[in-house]
Amino acid sequence: MSAATFDADVLVVGLGPVGAAMAALLARRGVTTIAIDKDTEIYPLPRAVHFDHEIMRLFQQLGVAEAVARHTRPVPAYEFRSADGTLLMQLDPQPETPFGWASGYMFHQPGLEQALRDRLAALPAADVRLGWRLTSFAQDGVGVAAEVIGPDGAATIRARYLVGCDGASSRVREAIGGGLSDYQFDEPWLVVDVAALPGARLPEVNLQLCDPARPTSGVLSGPGRHRWEFMLLPGETPETVLEPGFIEGLLARWDCGPLQIQRRAVYRFHGLVANRWRLSRVLLAGDSAHQTPPFAGQGMCSGLRDAANLAWKLEAVLRGQAEANLLDTYQPEREPHVRTLIELAIGMGRVVCMLDPAAAAARDRDMLARRRTGEPSLPPPRPAPFASGCILAGTAGAGALFSQPICGVAGDRVRLDDVMGDGAWLISRRPTSCEGDMLACDLADGSLAPFRPAIEAWLHAHDAPAVLVRPDRYVFGTGTAASLAAAWAGALGRAPERSERRREA
Ligand SMILES: Cc1cc2nc3c(=O)[nH]c(=O)nc-3n(C[C@H](O)[C@H](O)[C@H](O)COP(=O)(O)OP(=O)(O)OC[C@H]3O[C@@H](n4cnc5c(N)ncnc54)[C@H](O)[C@@H]3O)c2cc1C
Repeated sequence: MSAATFDADVLVVGLGPVGAAMAALLARRGVTTIAIDKDTEIYPLPRAVHFDHEIMRLFQQLGVAEAVARHTRPVPAYEFRSADGTLLMQLDPQPETPFGWASGYMFHQPGLEQALRDRLAALPAADVRLGWRLTSFAQDGVGVAAEVIGPDGAATIRARYLVGCDGASSRVREAIGGGLSDYQFDEPWLVVDVAALPGARLPEVNLQLCDPARPTSGVLSGPGRHRWEFMLLPGETPETVLEPGFIEGLLARWDCGPLQIQRRAVYRFHGLVANRWRLSRVLLAGDSAHQTPPFAGQGMCSGLRDAANLAWKLEAVLRGQAEANLLDTYQPEREPHVRTLIELAIGMGRVVCMLDPAAAAARDRDMLARRRTGEPSLPPPRPAPFASGCILAGTAGAGALFSQPICGVAGDRVRLDDVMGDGAWLISRRPTSCEGDMLACDLADGSLAPFRPAIEAWLHAHDAPAVLVRPDRYVFGTGTAASLAAAWAGALGRAPERSERRREA
């Protein structure tokens, strides 16, 4: 392959939420991106119902926060109750977090995916091809040639990189090999989505009913919608539980009035992580790389974090601002984060999926005792900062998400990311003359004025004269401005004369 033969910088395979976000993150920065999906329509039924503040911040970056917000509601309290309704544990929502958004949102997935695709359609660098299926690919030292079947038959798409966002049954994952690591959690659940009809009374909290006779989840979805998930009991089959009469019987317990059942499906909830997320110019993101039981509402969130992590690295490599080995930091940064959330979800699942009445009674007693003493029954949902990767390891705050202060009042609020814009930021207490592939500013900078107290407090808490924030808003490191600028250049392995574009020119 020669540079002249490329159809795009990046081919994104699969336009679920992760592929759509991945393609939009690249194309909005001018990286030419072809995004294909085998289906011609958005999958019409929701799977995910919850995303967190970090994902809303990503939507803010993509310019779709408002459009997405139309399909969301603030996350309510998350309760774990025993069979008789006793409250065993409660996770409270935070209307505001240090990251500029509420702790979580409940949403309707098709609406969110439409907002992402609308954004993609408006980006000149994006070329969306629906009804195109990847069948195979081959790569060499400069690019990837993907064989696809489109509406007019077979074709080849050539790109410098290919990102497989092709979901749980990923062909890309299969092709790059490496296998899956399996958490051996495999529970069948019936998922029922409903929309409220006039006179309906939907629950207003998210609930795990830890009833050994029928473990059940009930969670809010987008406005006017609700989801129930019922664990299948020994001897039950998908066919028996999908009977309308059976589902009506299960819903009767909730006495919600008139509802329209929009979907019923049986899923097996499991925890899987691909062992290999990258083979040279081919990478995985989203469900192709990992799958989690939904108890923590984090599967799609993890996939969107992959997209945020990978997009800026691909852009930097393609622009010659970083060496290709920056991409080696992708899996080591993302995999521990993903595994923490899978383990949290499995932990929640094991609490809920208990069918033995004696074991369930012991669990209830234990959770009640912890509730009385204030000791948490589950680990905190926030994964630890990256321990390694593209960070200045060992410096305060490195590898953690940087905060996003807000100024102004409701309806007219300005967030830090909107003022600072894209790319990496070097923010120092005192004026700096540092230069590099980043926006360098200091606390006297007029545009930072409304955020100065919050950033000053952050720097003070981290005992740091300056912070370097990566384009995905994770902290690269703290220290003096000069040391950070030098370390950032080193971490990117920047050697312009050897950069990819120049080498190919
Ligand atoms: C019951 C349930 C509840 C969940 N709840 C939550 C939740 O509350 N919060 C959360 O964050 N996550 C949740 N999840 C997980 C979440 O739904 C998934 O992680 C997310 O949808 C995965 O997105 P994706 O883009 O990686 O894959 P997908 O959405 O599966 O998209 C993959 C795309 O690739 C396309 N494709 C596949 N093969 C090819 C090919 N060969 N060529 C071209 N295109 C191809 C497909 O057509 C599809 O459009 C839940 C999942 C389930 C099942």
